[in-house]
Amino acid sequence: MKLKVLVIEDNKQNMYMITYLLESYSYEVIQSFNGIDGIQRAKEEKPDIILLDIQLPEMDGYAIASELMKHDELKNIPIIAVTSYAMMGDKEKAMKAGAIGYIEKPIDPDIFVSQMEAFLPPQLLQRSKD
Ligand code: MN
Repeated sequence: MKLKVLVIEDNKQNMYMITYLLESYSYEVIQSFNGIDGIQRAKEEKPDIILLDIQLPEMDGYAIASELMKHDELKNIPIIAVTSYAMMGDKEKAMKAGAIGYIEKPIDPDIFVSQMEAFLPPQLLQRSKD
């Protein structure tokens, strides 16, 4: 069964690359370019995984993660932060907001999908192989 990944990312090139990589590994991708839309898509699509850019216009990734956590039907979806904002404490801040993991930009196409999969609960990964 294909796992559904909601990608919330405002940079078109990054979105293109992430989508290309995930689809190459048989994931289904839902694209969202901002937080308001991303939260809406999460409610509608019930993705298995959320890849969340931190630097976004208007609503940043921390605010989005915090908002997702308020919804019972969404709070158990694993959120992985993706950000180039290499400041100290950024990772901790993302985890505190609800992310289970953190991938640093620039995206490395050779390892991106395995970086993501390393954070996923084993039963979820198993489901993608069933
Ligand atoms: Mn961004």
